[in-house]
Amino acid sequence: MDCLFCKIIAGEIPGKKVYEDENVYAFEDINPQTPVHILFVPKEHISAASEINSENSKYVAHIFEAIAKVAAQKGLKDGFRVVTNCGEHGCQSVKHLHFHLLGGQQLTEKMN
Ligand code: 5GP
Ligand code: ZN
Repeated sequence: MDCLFCKIIAGEIPGKKVYEDENVYAFEDINPQTPVHILFVPKEHISAASEINSENSKYVAHIFEAIAKVAAQKGLKDGFRVVTNCGEHGCQSVKHLHFHLLGGQQLTEKMN
């Protein structure tokens, strides 16, 4: 499948891996928006948040467990933000479900 994040998971395209387990892969965003900016993806290809269902939602739970672990490792004790962009209105550019972990500075209240 011609999917950038599937290729990063497979090691076919280099990525700065931060975390990996059976279900989840996490790596540094190539264009960080905050001092800590890590992308969390399910190893199983799910194209977007709109495709989460009762069969695959377990991967989302695993991702949020991984986010909590990595946030603690990165020292984000004062908090962080998790974002997933979906579809055209959400400005999703890579069509493999991913959650942005943003932190390491005071974030703004604006979310759009
Ligand atoms: P989206 O806009 O779909 O929510 O987020 C896609 C993210 O993937 C962007 O923040 C972008 O910087 C990141 N990205 C795009 N291509 C690459 C890449 O080749 N490697 C890494 N590590 N991140 C990428
Ligand atoms: Zn994929």
